[in-house]
Amino acid sequence: MQKYDFHTHSVCSDGHYSPAELIQRAHAVGLSVLALTDHDTVKGIESARRSATALGLGFVPGIELSVRWENKTIHLIGLGIDIADSGLRRHLERLAALRQSRAQAIDQHLSRHGITGLLEEATRLASEGLVTRTHFARALVKRGHAQDVRDVFRRFLTPGKPGHVASDWPELAESVEVIRGAGGLSVMAHPLRYPLTRTALRRLASQFKAEGGVGLEVISGNPQPAEVRSLAALAREFEFSASLGSDFHGPDEAWPKLGRLPGLPPDLQPIWAQALGVG
Ligand code: AMP
Ligand code: MN
Ligand code: MN
Ligand code: MN
Repeated sequence: MQKYDFHTHSVCSDGHYSPAELIQRAHAVGLSVLALTDHDTVKGIESARRSATALGLGFVPGIELSVRWENKTIHLIGLGIDIADSGLRRHLERLAALRQSRAQAIDQHLSRHGITGLLEEATRLASEGLVTRTHFARALVKRGHAQDVRDVFRRFLTPGKPGHVASDWPELAESVEVIRGAGGLSVMAHPLRYPLTRTALRRLASQFKAEGGVGLEVISGNPQPAEVRSLAALAREFEFSASLGSDFHGPDEAWPKLGRLPGLPPDLQPIWAQALGVG
């Protein structure tokens, strides 16, 4: 049986392993095809592709874009993208600048609460790539301000907390267009992880479909059966293909493990039929 994982991270964003190590692990746990989908960067793609080719593992170049929809942050997976595409490159430069100014703002907010020099530390921890909130979280844990990364998010980095900064990410429509322009397929990541009512989620699904969205992540991480049923129903209603991904970041942050995903409901159209041209 073929095993797929279309949502993973490396050190080029907030994952723990280099792209080459990630590919080795994917191979070791028996995956057939892996997509590397770092936040807002394609820096790891070439290295991952080379490692995958050497091991005979199927590889899909991907990305997880930060997107704004109704003033909320949504994550959009692009699969099968051409990383040399100029529109994509411009979009990623813009995202890098937004991340840099957000990181400075987070640093200033934390300074006002007596926690200083965090930007420097987060930047050092993000040595291979873009600064994410995960890097701030790790820096705060190292300084003893919280027990673990989840604890940091709860106490510092979410709305209403000292280190929270609202992000002005690009809109959904233009993000879908960037992925389409780079020859990729747009998949909505972990649809149940946003603070959206059921009504708002259906509005998002409907708009995403109208703007050219192709798939929903029906399996994300270690879902409950009821979550899979709910997302499968949404995929059927709006005629989305179904994707699946672990959102693997590394071994020690309570994230799902690689290569342990349940199967998709059999009646759904799997995204890999489109992303890879196989059935
Ligand atoms: P950013 O894109 O910089 O806002 O960072 C988002 C990343 O932070 C996500 O991809 C997760 O890896 C991580 N994250 C978000 N919320 C939490 C949480 N509650 N606990 C642990 N990690 C989180
Ligand atoms: Mn992440
Ligand atoms: Mn995400
Ligand atoms: Mn992710």
